[in-house]
Amino acid sequence: MSAYYYSGCPENYEAHYLDSCSVCSKSLHNSDIFMYRGNTPFCSKECRQEQMEVDEAREKKLRSGRSLRKSESKSSTPSKTVRTGVVTVS
Ligand SMILES: [Zn+2]
Repeated sequence: MSAYYYSGCPENYEAHYLDSCSVCSKSLHNSDIFMYRGNTPFCSKECRQEQMEVDEAREKKLRSGRSLRKSESKSSTPSKTVRTGVVTVS
């Protein structure tokens, strides 16, 4: 926690990044921090669970809206289409 980087403009820096719970905004000073996905702090398992459920619901929504996963995994086509896009290296 000592690796804070101050560019001389501390007001622009997200100082509360690891200072408070993402769900209930409770201060995390001198208390256990429950991390989730590497960068989101929570004050308790309950709060973390809440965030997980929100994320889960969101991902489910995204997934079902994009494509039917069932039919995709069933017929595993050997010829995968890999789109790399246009990569310009200058
Ligand atoms: Zn909390």
